[in-house]
Amino acid sequence: MRFLAVTLLSMLMLGACSEQKSDTLAEAKEVNFSDLSFDEQLASIVHDTETAKKGLAAKGEYNCCVMPACNWCLINDKHCTCSIHLNKGESVCGECGQAWAVGRGIIVGVEAEDVKWGPSEVHAH
Ligand SMILES: [Zn+2]
Ligand SMILES: [Zn+2]
Repeated sequence: MRFLAVTLLSMLMLGACSEQKSDTLAEAKEVNFSDLSFDEQLASIVHDTETAKKGLAAKGEYNCCVMPACNWCLINDKHCTCSIHLNKGESVCGECGQAWAVGRGIIVGVEAEDVKWGPSEVHAH
């Protein structure tokens, strides 16, 4: 009788375990990036870049000159110094330059036509 009780208990535990495992698998499948639709992938990417930039900004490492902040510097430089370069009269990254051209600049007193960017201006870091 005692043996049976132990067997039953271990069966119950096994049952609980395998159930938990399949839950975890289902969850993992749910957040598998490649299974998402393109729109969901895009929303996830945009959300993640904003989170990464906010984290860098909180450490003073994302000093962008446009709103919303550029992604070029995040991916290529791991920080953004475009507003610092702009204030010194130096070039900004191509994405910031384009953003200024469509009216997304946020540095007071700077005009879009004064912003240096593009192939003739190397974006120094
Ligand atoms: Zn930037
Ligand atoms: Zn930039």
